[in-house]
Amino acid sequence: MKITCHPQGRWQPGFRRLIAVLAAFWAGLPVWGIPSRAAPKLVVVPVGGSGTESLSPGVLEQLHSLAPDAFCRQIGSTSVIQVGAFHRQESIDLMLESLALLGLEGQVWSPEAAALNLGGGGSTEGIPFHWPYPVASEADLEPVSGLGGRVERLHQEAAQAFRQMQQHAQASNISLVLISGFRDLSVQTALFRRQIRRQGSEQAAMRLSAPPGYSEHHTGYALDMGDGRHPQTHLQYSFAQTPAYAWLVQHAPQYGFELSFPPGNGQGVNYEPWHWRYVGSPQAAALFAQARLASPW
Ligand SMILES: [Zn+2]
Repeated sequence: MKITCHPQGRWQPGFRRLIAVLAAFWAGLPVWGIPSRAAPKLVVVPVGGSGTESLSPGVLEQLHSLAPDAFCRQIGSTSVIQVGAFHRQESIDLMLESLALLGLEGQVWSPEAAALNLGGGGSTEGIPFHWPYPVASEADLEPVSGLGGRVERLHQEAAQAFRQMQQHAQASNISLVLISGFRDLSVQTALFRRQIRRQGSEQAAMRLSAPPGYSEHHTGYALDMGDGRHPQTHLQYSFAQTPAYAWLVQHAPQYGFELSFPPGNGQGVNYEPWHWRYVGSPQAAALFAQARLASPW
């Protein structure tokens, strides 16, 4: 039996039986509560042979209703099911048993295992992944002036640190602008869908953007910055050549900011010189602890 995922994350029809098995144990077990900061695990199903049994498009929706943060990707001859809640060994074992019933051999890979060099990452090397993040509560967010007079929002701790940093930069004749701050699930959904359309697959999109539920921007602690004197470099790699970027590299750490996706980052996400996260408070540092551990930085 061959499992394939549609390039855009839709499941093909013959997977129905597997989904039914999975649904049975998901529904029957209390292990499916999704802790907001559970590390994502990938259940990897290498498939081969000929003949594709396809899944009905509705199956993915069914799966999403059971596990809102699950998504499926097809990478070459490998199907990858990423489910944030696969953090308990018993649920992973059940998943593998269900796959075995269907004659499929699943392998579990987790970013922590890869970060700690425990092996198991071979077949998923190069697959970008994102950590799940909780959406900030309204009460913790405050408005900050953004690019072009827009009002962005940041977590109050990050907002305060950003304003101080911006003033300090101004004193050095550097124009630091806030392009994007907090994003809710619906905004991230729209952005991620647009990225899939542009890049042609969910796999490619994940190098540039996070699926809803997995963006650092949900926390209110992440922000995209630009150089106000070089607007053509906004959200471009060329931002790394601007005076503002050079200034940030030197001074941002003293305000509690760090680059989330430096070149060669452990998440396999493309270098984003404009995207920084605040880790200057215990609360913020705890949110990003897993991501920082998995990063070579
Ligand atoms: Zn960003």
